[in-house]
Amino acid sequence: MTGTSSFRRAERMSGIEISEIVQLSEAAAALRAEGRDVVALSTGEPDFPTPPHVIAAAHAAAAAGQTRYTPTLGTPALRAAIAAAAGTVAGEVIVSTGAKQVLANAMLATLDPGDEVIMPAPCWTSYADIVTLAGGRPVVLPCPAAQGFKLRPEELARAITGRSRWLMLNSPSNPTGAIYSREELRALAEVLADHPQVMVLSDEIYRHLAFSPWTSMREAAPELTERLLIVDGVSKAYSMTGWRIGWGIGPAPMIRAMGAVQGQVTSGASSVSQAAALAALTGDQGLLDTRRAALRARRDRVVAALNALPGVTCAAPDGAFYAFPDITGAMERLGAESDAAFCKLVLDRAGLAIVPGRAFGLPGHARLSFAYSDADLDAGLDRLSAVLAPGPVAA
Ligand code: PMP
Repeated sequence: MTGTSSFRRAERMSGIEISEIVQLSEAAAALRAEGRDVVALSTGEPDFPTPPHVIAAAHAAAAAGQTRYTPTLGTPALRAAIAAAAGTVAGEVIVSTGAKQVLANAMLATLDPGDEVIMPAPCWTSYADIVTLAGGRPVVLPCPAAQGFKLRPEELARAITGRSRWLMLNSPSNPTGAIYSREELRALAEVLADHPQVMVLSDEIYRHLAFSPWTSMREAAPELTERLLIVDGVSKAYSMTGWRIGWGIGPAPMIRAMGAVQGQVTSGASSVSQAAALAALTGDQGLLDTRRAALRARRDRVVAALNALPGVTCAAPDGAFYAFPDITGAMERLGAESDAAFCKLVLDRAGLAIVPGRAFGLPGHARLSFAYSDADLDAGLDRLSAVLAPGPVAA
């Protein structure tokens, strides 16, 4: 390439790169392609299969001719099922191509250049980039382990300015598993009472994977309903990441604006996937309990093993399927200057892929997903243990 290429990135792309999680997964795949044996505990994807009755519903829908464009806001049947489960009406529901598109729709529909979006960190890597792409300014508030990785009301009050448009919450959280109690949600809502210009995006996509009591923002703060967007989907609870179905529940004018964005970008979500999501929501829900119990057992196994490692401390996450240990002692042991350098070392020396905390806005940590088989988890933890053990390091 000479320097004369006419390709130029838009200004709003500055700082936007392929997500660190995707880069790590690609690095792991490249090592595998070289013949290295690599264990990846890096992706946020359940290893359970999509339930068979969901797959059967997709087959049946395709065979019955549900293969055409769908209404932009979602099929009437799926919107009605989502609305019924949430105790609302279909006009307050939009179905999108994954929860990720719900987030993007919301930001594109509401942010003017320089508008601020407050996000407690650590938070999912895409939040800040979606806000930036939509022309907004992420206001990232670090919430360390000492405060349970959660935002305190006084910190929220200090962060709000005349440009604040959204507060983004995620409970249970990716990457920490933290859950906001009803009281904690109420305390945040009380701060927002004085700032009617601030809308709330409550990302509840891990709600079925809570190991302790969980409350929706809708329930905790009904007075916010007119400025609340709930984000949810089938990806995590029903092991349907590839089907790409998520939804937003919010006031009708907000949903219509989000639909106007979606109508120009992707149109309605996949017909077959919506039929599958409908089967997931209306079919046997017992599988949620079974899977939650399995994840809880894995959590306990992973947290115990992590805390036994030198230089690693990990609180048990209350939900989702990630452990987010403090690794500062382990970084020191290996002479790693940053959590990213530590994760690279672990990948190179031990063939284990985990994600550095800085990708989520809180350095000094790493994220390990435990949505993997016990065999993979044990292999990954053994590798981490071998790297951290004193003496020569096995390759
Ligand atoms: N929100 C959070 C907190 C997530 O972790 C993810 C997926 N990693 C999403 C939203 C997006 O989910 P989907 O697959 O439905 O786009």
